[in-house]
Amino acid sequence: MRGAVLYGPRDVRFEERDVPKINKPTDAIIRISATCICGSDLWPYRGIQPVPEPTPMGHEYCGIVEEIGSAVTSIKPGQFVIGSFFASDNTCPNCQVGYQSSCQNRELVSTAQAPLMRVPLADGTLVSTPDVPSENMIPSLLTLSDVMGTGWFAADAANVKPGVTVAVVGDGAVGLLGVLSARQMGAGRIIAMSRHVTRQKLAREFGATDVVTERGDEGVARIKELTSGIGADAVLECVGTQEAMMQAIRSTRPGGSVGYVGVPHGVELNGQELFFAHVHLHGGPAPVRRYLPALIDLVWNGRINPGKVFDLTLPLDQVAEGYRAMDERRAIKTLLRP
Ligand SMILES: [Zn+2]
Repeated sequence: MRGAVLYGPRDVRFEERDVPKINKPTDAIIRISATCICGSDLWPYRGIQPVPEPTPMGHEYCGIVEEIGSAVTSIKPGQFVIGSFFASDNTCPNCQVGYQSSCQNRELVSTAQAPLMRVPLADGTLVSTPDVPSENMIPSLLTLSDVMGTGWFAADAANVKPGVTVAVVGDGAVGLLGVLSARQMGAGRIIAMSRHVTRQKLAREFGATDVVTERGDEGVARIKELTSGIGADAVLECVGTQEAMMQAIRSTRPGGSVGYVGVPHGVELNGQELFFAHVHLHGGPAPVRRYLPALIDLVWNGRINPGKVFDLTLPLDQVAEGYRAMDERRAIKTLLRP
């Protein structure tokens, strides 16, 4: 079979890879219905996080169970399933409190940009849909594997509640789905921070009530202006840079919360500033598994359509163009079909 392999900066190849096999009785093999490229795939793609050797890519996936190991009991071949980028047992103390991305037995899944993939800890990791979905529902179900679950975690970690004012830093796919999540959680006002017209439009479609185009200190000043000088109750940080993190913390009101889900690159916090800011900080790799059942239900019943975030669909063999389009910001997010 052929799949995506990253060789170095801006060098993704679609080439022969080993067909995955059941290695442990707790594994499952799934036939990928759709996969995609993550904003976090762009860090190694751009060489900011160098790969030591040619590395298979992809951690967002959904598909049909092809084969299960002898110990797997909760899913069976033929079912349509979705899993997270961290495989988890869903039984350890960390999983039990809803932090499956800190599972004591977690395994990073990173071979999804291929026709077949092995999923470890299948019972704990994979959640099946009520039936095999129609084609048009697949993009939305795919987002639950990471990007939508991460946007949802950002909103949850920022303590979004009915009626509150939310600001979202970052207009990538996660930020946009953070807007959708905040809307779904009943936020009263949602301020999207974006300088790109097409992304602003999608943010409004997902529920943003205001758009702020300024960033850094000017962005903070605009948020303060829009909130009677106080700051937002809940701020979602969906980028991972120093500027974005400071923009998020400084845009939050005293007593408010920052949910941060952008993978930090060079972010450092000043203790004094943090002390006097009086904000709650919570974030990290999203425990997507916790939200899968509820989010599958929302998609299945047509209540949310996060698949709109894909503005480019390519056959898997054109994966290199998919990375280029996202790197050059010609695409928000690329969906790949094997
Ligand atoms: Zn666990």
